[in-house]
Amino acid sequence: MVADSQPGHIDQIKQTNAGAVYRLIDQLGPVSRIDLSRLAQLAPASITKIVREMLEAHLVQETEIQEPGSRGRPAVGLMVETEAWHYLALRISRGEIHLALRDLSSKLVVEERLELALQDTQPLLKRIITQIDQFFIRHQGKLERLTSIAITLPGIIDTESGIIHRMPFYEDVKEMPLGETLAAHTGVPVYIQHDISAWTMAEALFGASRGARDVIQVVIDHNVGAGVITDGRLLHAGSSSLVEIGHTQVDPYGKRCYCGNHGCLETIASVESVLELAQVRMHQSMSSMLHQQPLTVESLCQAAVKGDLLAKDIITSVGTNVGRILAIMVNLFNPQKILIGSPFNQAADILFPAISDCIRQQSLPAYSKHISVEQTQFSNRGTMAGAALVKDALYNGSLLIRLLQG
Ligand SMILES: [Zn+2]
Repeated sequence: MVADSQPGHIDQIKQTNAGAVYRLIDQLGPVSRIDLSRLAQLAPASITKIVREMLEAHLVQETEIQEPGSRGRPAVGLMVETEAWHYLALRISRGEIHLALRDLSSKLVVEERLELALQDTQPLLKRIITQIDQFFIRHQGKLERLTSIAITLPGIIDTESGIIHRMPFYEDVKEMPLGETLAAHTGVPVYIQHDISAWTMAEALFGASRGARDVIQVVIDHNVGAGVITDGRLLHAGSSSLVEIGHTQVDPYGKRCYCGNHGCLETIASVESVLELAQVRMHQSMSSMLHQQPLTVESLCQAAVKGDLLAKDIITSVGTNVGRILAIMVNLFNPQKILIGSPFNQAADILFPAISDCIRQQSLPAYSKHISVEQTQFSNRGTMAGAALVKDALYNGSLLIRLLQG
């Protein structure tokens, strides 16, 4: 193949190399230029050039490394410089918005949770911008150079164009140009991702699936969905596609779902559906502990852990329904690890064995025997999912190049 000499192609190579070098320094630093050259498989001259630009932009800094036992001159190592760079991570969910300022090491500077009404006279886009403006005014004194904005939310999202086609809970949202509007308003790049995909990335970068090549992460919350990491990469990254297990039919005679079908997993296993079912079944079991306090996820899980038969049965059937779909996914992806992110994890001692049993009985034994079912490290609250988007944009070089160019 003839080498492509177009400038665009060269920029792409520069971006990829810079991202790879930054990643190595971030993950291994302090690290010497010689080691970087070997690990990144780039010529020493290329490393020198990339590192010089990063030093000038204050994205990395030099430090001395004294080899243990060595009496010679200490070697020069490189580390990332993160405190002078901030980004805004934002999470929108049912009725609330989280806003957080973090530095480039993902360390939290300040985080707030505010109400975001499901319906309002003003459109959602305008309300989000107002919240961001007010957040920056409140925390002006803490703000260093703003690099970017990362947003995670549920819905049907075009991550390339930053357009939110539809959202659950916020029914007036149609083709909301969130990315473009915010980029124009703030002058920094805006990264938008579906909350479950971004959370899956966060667990892989900083959390419970770090270092694992093949992972299935299932989220059972207001909505039900999954993220898949296959050979170290997020499946469907950079597109609007999701692993839509929530809209897989588990009961052909079940309730109608907002997607248009009947008996989807989400109509059976989402937090709202489970509480609704518990409410109905309570009337058939007057001796259940569930009668003693208002019915919530917490009270349901507590009762299950304490051995209440009805509560245990309800949690077990969540596990069985999710496990049945997971068993099929195990045969497709052969993961090392399955992560469950859910408020029902409060009853993990009942939920996880129900899921594991199902997988063991319904998927290939050679695949299922080594799989561990574990909790996610982060919850579906807060802004670690947004932190993953910024880290990813640094590692793939796209954000890094913008920062290098000043
Ligand atoms: Zn559905």
